[in-house]
Amino acid sequence: MTATRLFEVLGLAKDAATGGDLAVRSPVDGAELGRVRTASLRDLDAMIARAVTAFQTWRTVPAPRRGELIRLFGEELRAHKSELGELVTLETGKIREEGKGEVQEMIDICDFALGLSRQLYGLTIASERPGHRMMETWHPLGVVGVISAFNFPVAVWSWNFALAIVCGDPVVWKPSEKTPLTALACQALFRRALKKFGDAPNGLLEVAIGGRDIGEMLVDDRRVALVSATGSTRMGREVAPRVARRFGKCLLELGGNNGMIVAPSADLELAVRAILFSAVGTAGQRCTSLRRLIVQERIYDALLPRLKRAYESVKIGNPLEAGVLVGPLIDENSFAGMQRALDRAKADGGQVFGGRRVLENVFPNAFYVQPAIAEMPGQTEIVKAETFAPILYAMRYRDFAEAMAMHNDVPQGLSSCIFTTDVREAEAFLAPDGSDCGIANVNIGPSGAEIGGAFGGEKETGGGRESGSDAWKAYMRRATNTINYSNKLPLAQGIEFEPMA
Ligand code: NAD
Repeated sequence: MTATRLFEVLGLAKDAATGGDLAVRSPVDGAELGRVRTASLRDLDAMIARAVTAFQTWRTVPAPRRGELIRLFGEELRAHKSELGELVTLETGKIREEGKGEVQEMIDICDFALGLSRQLYGLTIASERPGHRMMETWHPLGVVGVISAFNFPVAVWSWNFALAIVCGDPVVWKPSEKTPLTALACQALFRRALKKFGDAPNGLLEVAIGGRDIGEMLVDDRRVALVSATGSTRMGREVAPRVARRFGKCLLELGGNNGMIVAPSADLELAVRAILFSAVGTAGQRCTSLRRLIVQERIYDALLPRLKRAYESVKIGNPLEAGVLVGPLIDENSFAGMQRALDRAKADGGQVFGGRRVLENVFPNAFYVQPAIAEMPGQTEIVKAETFAPILYAMRYRDFAEAMAMHNDVPQGLSSCIFTTDVREAEAFLAPDGSDCGIANVNIGPSGAEIGGAFGGEKETGGGRESGSDAWKAYMRRATNTINYSNKLPLAQGIEFEPMA
């Protein structure tokens, strides 16, 4: 389908997608997909004001009714899965299957949030005082500012949005300036859900398109109770202190540098398949992409040739074509960053396989690369940095303790895994002195998480958790309530405080 036809089907007004000042180019071929209007600081101010007003009423709407709105949004997504998925492919360059998978993830989180809307549970707590009861109540928090990255332009936003809406919070969304069209399409689909819902206030979803300046204004605004920011560690380093300065809340989902330990007992067939998907899928542009392969030295020479053969069989090309597994990098900067990293790896004594630009003749304005494997003598500085491209650093280890130490010796802490059939090693990997990441898997690659679990990581990944489990608590305010149903006034800790007779 052409981009214009997709806009139509998704309900995106023509002038919203084509009449603006910011040109949106597809990484597939460099062609212009549309032109969107960037928000001015004044526009953003008005959007936040509308969201604040919406909060006044939305917070009093019963949570299961708020869930109904998300159910309706989920239905719009179901009806337009393939079109929105295709727009994701056009705007990010990820293959069709993954574009659709991203929309499926949105549908899944809508289902999760709908159920959650009847489960925003607090606790009852034993009081130390007679005739007293204690409990915990969760209330809506306020306006949530969502800043999203280009590589999961809609799924990661929806993790925030679906939970925020059922928790009673309006959302002001600043999508990546590289992927504004999918954001506008989501807003159009949400408008349809709003229409069916009937009586929701204006301002539950505002979309502010722009770059860092708009992001910074959102971050600095005291009316924004929670800033949920997904992107590079560099961005998080700028955002976190700004939010802290005004005592706002912050949820950070930043860069990863995800490792896999392949132990001698591993099922190598399974390992090769998992490595391939997690290292070359999405052209290495997932926050959970596999970047470090730590292989026991006895099996290293059996694994690496198999892996290289698998790399050679992967079809690179137009992500809209059937059979293609690796699409383009997002832009030229990304390509240049990959080449710089490979040069550094070579300077550090690494042997590089793949990594060259391909299809330059067919797509002179797009950046397709062969995924690279860099066999490294050790974990040098470049291995410890996240390069957002398909580079897999392969290293050897002797014993498990060494593998574990190498694994954790990076600044990031997002996702991790071990391939082993030895139950002791598997458990040791998951133990308190095992993987230090937010996600730790056994016999599964580090990428492709399900929405039911909490998603996020430690150290420079920022510490945030989104999506499943009890991640919803970040979008609510906890109140501890003590109720005295006696006719006395005992004080806690047995303190006596009576005026002298
Ligand atoms: P990026 O940091 O360049 O941009 C992310 C977003 O932050 C964009 O919307 C951008 O406009 C905004 N931004 C940048 N500087 C800002 C500032 N100073 N104040 C406010 N907003 C600012 O990241 P990217 O290139 O779009 O995405 C790739 C990065 O995102 C990788 O590092 C990847 O690991 C990470 N990522 C993390 C997760 C996760 O869940 N942990 C998920 C997806 C992507």
